[in-house]
Amino acid sequence: MHTVLFYIILLIIVCDFIGDQWLGMLNLRALSTGIPPELRHVYNAEEYARSQEYTRIRTRFSQTESVLVFVLMVCMLCFNGFAWLNDLVCRWSGNEIVRCLLFFGMLDLLFNVISLPFEIYNTFVIEAGFGFNRTSPRTFVSDKIKNMLLEWLFGGLLLGLMTWFYGLTNRFFWIYALAGITLFSLFITVFYTTLIVPLFNRLEPLADGPVKDAISDFARRTGFDFHSLRVIDGSKRSSKGNAFFSGLGKRKSIVLYDTLINDLDIPHIIAVLGHEIGHYRMKHIRKSFIIACCSNALMLFLLSLCLKSPAFSQALQVNEPNFHIGLLSFGLLYSPVSTITGLFSNIQSRRAEFQADAFAAEACGNSDDLKDALCRLSAQSLTNLTPHPLYVFVNYSHPTLLQRVQALQNAKARESQ
Ligand SMILES: [Zn+2]
Repeated sequence: MHTVLFYIILLIIVCDFIGDQWLGMLNLRALSTGIPPELRHVYNAEEYARSQEYTRIRTRFSQTESVLVFVLMVCMLCFNGFAWLNDLVCRWSGNEIVRCLLFFGMLDLLFNVISLPFEIYNTFVIEAGFGFNRTSPRTFVSDKIKNMLLEWLFGGLLLGLMTWFYGLTNRFFWIYALAGITLFSLFITVFYTTLIVPLFNRLEPLADGPVKDAISDFARRTGFDFHSLRVIDGSKRSSKGNAFFSGLGKRKSIVLYDTLINDLDIPHIIAVLGHEIGHYRMKHIRKSFIIACCSNALMLFLLSLCLKSPAFSQALQVNEPNFHIGLLSFGLLYSPVSTITGLFSNIQSRRAEFQADAFAAEACGNSDDLKDALCRLSAQSLTNLTPHPLYVFVNYSHPTLLQRVQALQNAKARESQ
């Protein structure tokens, strides 16, 4: 049984890698087509060529990185790397929680070390080459350290809790783990802007002036009351703009990137905000939270079944089954299922984007503001205007610019009828 599982894991890794490379290639081939007529004004010929070059370079870059990760995973599997690491941590400690934390901590460190040169190249060569990067080497290093500490703190806490629950309540472990993960994600949702964002960025209240007046007026008209309206110094790292909401209920805050305020006109900022308010009013955040809970429940339930069988640990050449090896083996086998649940969540997310766009167009009283804002933001970030449909279906959480523009134009045509 465990030999069969071993080959299934290997097959999954190979198929995943081939699928990923193939989709990237399809996407690159789709680049040769001309600008869609609806988007002619987004780029001039030179900028269009630059946007294609940007997609080309980034795709090749991520394909190269995935070759390295693929080779590493296959070597770890075929040369018993996971079993070796397991022996090491079992010699270091007799406590299952400590073993689990050491095991995943070291794996995380290994993958972080491998991806570090890629991150440096991406930030200081690719992004800088296209004029996006504003990250100084100092910010890069401090970001990296903070990210790793947060990852270890939160990841360690969750993993430690799961191992502990498993030891205590073998059979119903998945229910406790689900409760733990759900509470933890709720905590992050509520305290994201107060606890996490200030570690990386400066958040300041939006200064009085025409932008603030327009936003307050718009929020009042759409019946959206917020706790605070703040600006984040996104320009510290990148020239790309964005906006988001954080918090629940009465503690909602609107956060705008300084790049968004500096680069867009007031009607465009309001349209982007209208889109975000649309997500809120249509309860998209709540819906995606519930979907995530359901898919976590499915995953944890299957995990609890698999942990009962020693074959899952033995598939990774570990004869004495334990929690962390069972968890890793399950994680590898589960990846096709998570690809499928990911497809559904992308479909759901793209639908929500169209709805939020429609809400914004209605709230602004016209669809042109949002259309122009989307085009300007896309032009600024050198968005690929002609991604391959299959690539979009698998990887995009947002519809393409063309699809969004067409949907807004259709809504406008229906209104004027
Ligand atoms: Zn959205």
